[in-house]
Amino acid sequence: MSNSILVVGGGFSGITAALEAAELGHEVYIVEKSPYLGGRVMQLNKYFPKLCPPSCGLEIQYQRIRNNPNVKFFTQAQVVAVSGKSPDFKVKVRIEPRYTSATSVEMAELVDELEGTATDEFNFGLAERKALYMDVPFAFPHRYVVDPAAMAGEDEKVLHRNPGVDLDQEGKEIELEVGSIVIATGWKPYDASQLTNLGAGEITNCVTNMQLERLAAASGPTKGDIKRPSDGKAVKKVAFVQCAGSRDQNHLNFCSYICCMASLKQAAYVREQYPDAEITIFYIDLRTPERYQKFAAKILADEKITAVKGKVAAVAEDGSGDVLITVENAVSGIKTEQRFDLVVLATGMQPSLAGEKLPIDVEVDADGFIVGGADQGIFAAGCAKKPLDVMKSAQSATGAAMKAIQTVRGR
Ligand SMILES: Cc1cc2nc3c(=O)[nH]c(=O)nc-3n(C[C@H](O)[C@H](O)[C@H](O)COP(=O)(O)OP(=O)(O)OC[C@H]3O[C@@H](n4cnc5c(N)ncnc54)[C@H](O)[C@@H]3O)c2cc1C
Repeated sequence: MSNSILVVGGGFSGITAALEAAELGHEVYIVEKSPYLGGRVMQLNKYFPKLCPPSCGLEIQYQRIRNNPNVKFFTQAQVVAVSGKSPDFKVKVRIEPRYTSATSVEMAELVDELEGTATDEFNFGLAERKALYMDVPFAFPHRYVVDPAAMAGEDEKVLHRNPGVDLDQEGKEIELEVGSIVIATGWKPYDASQLTNLGAGEITNCVTNMQLERLAAASGPTKGDIKRPSDGKAVKKVAFVQCAGSRDQNHLNFCSYICCMASLKQAAYVREQYPDAEITIFYIDLRTPERYQKFAAKILADEKITAVKGKVAAVAEDGSGDVLITVENAVSGIKTEQRFDLVVLATGMQPSLAGEKLPIDVEVDADGFIVGGADQGIFAAGCAKKPLDVMKSAQSATGAAMKAIQTVRGR
């Protein structure tokens, strides 16, 4: 029987669940598939309702992890097999090589010398990165990663010059014994290339809401200047298309809960940078529940931000880089074509497990959200369970941690 707990996914939910259990004396292992902890919150410019940067919540969590020997975490790691049952699980974890030493020496200068590039997934394809990278702000762990597939020309020689790089590192498998499992695998942005009527991700000046987060972030590809991707032009007219693929049985057949608040927040980002910019938010119905009513009212008090009830039928590009939106006003019934500098698609949160299978025997619904597991000592937390904001993700994670603790304590 093990008293330890496994947390799969090291985003806000996974970190919260791990800390809650660790601070009550349990040994906790976080298995995170990316090179850094923090999950999607790291990719946000600011988060509502307070509009503080991700560092304000995450740095405290990282500090709590540093101070707590009960928390052990593995990055670039995935669960590959689980046997046994609660409270006696045996879990096999595969850890991919990072190719840098744990005590990484300074490597920023090395990055500039490298030739090869790869698509920067952290910036949702808005930039390229080198084979050596640490593209995450206030990265935890604060350690570079090498992506050998991105190396070109003399890159290998350049990398070998730094004693902190070890291209001979190999992946390894470890086995953990745990009594309970928390799954906090979170969400991924819905794939805009599925939205054929909305430009299918092909229109340069039609970006997704997560791309806009990166355009607005000081750590992003434009260092925080919100500009048109095609020509770097200042934006004067911006449209937000709500429910882009959401509440639609052909795409995501649910509401992602946060998209209306996210677009309002992003309208504020644009208005902060461009005092003359005009913003139109096209929505089916604005969903800003509970404390977000006040948040919405404050942003909509800006006379340059207009919310229009109307379903966007089509998004197209004209030769100048402008984006044309065809929309029917749901109140007047009038159909118009309107021109914008930049269009933002409010795409929803799809569970990470949609189309993927964890090697953990747990029931998911048709959309990929976890719905089972409790009777097997397996508990879902945060957006792996349903679309949530950060605060509710943390609450859900605390609940999952309590259930996991009760399980290993045999209550
Ligand atoms: C455009 C947009 C703006 C938003 N803005 C806000 C905001 O301002 N305020 C707010 O409160 N919320 C906001 N949200 C919601 C917020 O992003 C989520 O509430 C939060 O990310 C949930 O955290 P999580 O840990 O559940 O999931 P995630 O952040 O997705 O973390 C999941 C982690 O699990 C890892 N993982 C996935 N699969 C595996 C696997 N198989 N094995 C190991 N690890 C795995 C991932 O790499 C990731 O690190 C926004 C969402 C969107 C779409």
